[in-house]
Amino acid sequence: MRRIAILGGGVGGTMVANRLARELREEIARSEVEVVLVGEEANHTYQPGFLYIAFNQAPLERFVRPQASLLVSGVRFLNVRAKKIDTASNSLQFENGDSLTYDFLVIATGSHPSMDTVTGLKEGAHSFYTAEQSIALRNALASMESGRIVIGVDVPHKCPVAVLEFTLMLDEYLRKRGKREQFEIIYTYPIGRLHSLVPVANWVEPEFERRGIQSEFFFNVDNVDPDKKIIESLEGSSYSYDLLVMVPAHRGAKVIMDSGIGDESGFVPTDRYSLRMKGSDNVFVIGDATDLPISKAGSTAHYEADTIVANLVDELHGLPADHQYDGKVYCFIEGGLDKATYIAFSYTEPPKPTAPSELLHWFKLMYNEIYWLSVRGLL
Ligand SMILES: Cc1cc2nc3c(=O)[nH]c(=O)nc-3n(C[C@H](O)[C@H](O)[C@H](O)COP(=O)(O)OP(=O)(O)OC[C@H]3O[C@@H](n4cnc5c(N)ncnc54)[C@H](O)[C@@H]3O)c2cc1C
Repeated sequence: MRRIAILGGGVGGTMVANRLARELREEIARSEVEVVLVGEEANHTYQPGFLYIAFNQAPLERFVRPQASLLVSGVRFLNVRAKKIDTASNSLQFENGDSLTYDFLVIATGSHPSMDTVTGLKEGAHSFYTAEQSIALRNALASMESGRIVIGVDVPHKCPVAVLEFTLMLDEYLRKRGKREQFEIIYTYPIGRLHSLVPVANWVEPEFERRGIQSEFFFNVDNVDPDKKIIESLEGSSYSYDLLVMVPAHRGAKVIMDSGIGDESGFVPTDRYSLRMKGSDNVFVIGDATDLPISKAGSTAHYEADTIVANLVDELHGLPADHQYDGKVYCFIEGGLDKATYIAFSYTEPPKPTAPSELLHWFKLMYNEIYWLSVRGLL
């Protein structure tokens, strides 16, 4: 019996496990292959939902399902946290003392926002990158009548367009409450434009102008004074704020750090085409866990899953496993509360955002529901 272990039950891990179980159902039925998903969470959370929670458009429960309910038959689910990945002995060690050997491993441990990378951030800033943060932000926003809202960004972080979506949605949220005139919105960004992707920066610039959203470039957050409510940049400028909303720098999972297989931020060195971990041919890496210079996004994991599943199936069938990921990413971008656009790009094709429309906004809302089919491997 050959075992494929998948570590991490988020977007990438769940999709790979379900698709493998379908593709290999005959081998699984004959007990020749086992597909094991190792996940520390009993529940699966759809993270793009956090944006809607922050603006009180939906409750958290809408975006959470039991992990076991999302798995097709043929996937064995171990609800446990891994404490070490040992690529020399092809094994995972768990916090409960158990271990699991594998023939192939897929690392799908994601990334998480770290509020510890900047002094004062934890005490002084809100965010919308976890369920708890988005609920706290929703409550803070709902209780504000006026003031200055400063938005700060640190890198790397997942879903690079989410901060633009947040800013545009914030503008409309305040307008819908009849309070926009009482608020200043200041968007800061670490480089010399509004977004790292040039076409996206060009697309959003007139949107910001039209809505009176102020911006400051080359603002790399250095520290936050939570008592005085001041944020300072490495470049020497500073803002006082009534509400600070920060997209903090992200880090890879602790298990990657603790296993000594990641870079200094905890991301796994990965071949950009084969998606194999560099130096370990029987280990694949998917989604946010890679060190690839592409958007950390659910759609990235979705397209990467195609490559990894095809390669694993070929490996098990003794065929050349030569499928390659082309860097494809597809993201809807909310352009306010009732319009959206989208971008699609790859290693070779730049994104070309179009004018936001209500139809695309409805597509995005529809995808938020279709996601539950997609993660089951049905789309
Ligand atoms: C506000 C917000 C908006 C977003 N909007 C979009 C969007 O519009 N479109 C888009 O494509 N993406 C979006 N994303 C990004 C998307 O959610 C992530 O990029 C995606 O979830 C990454 O998938 P993943 O499988 O790599 O990691 P995750 O989905 O984060 O899953 C990682 C899993 O690994 C588990 N894990 C980690 N360590 C261990 C361990 N030691 N043992 C066991 N389990 C472990 C974690 O518990 C987690 O379940 C958004 C994210 C946020 C926060």
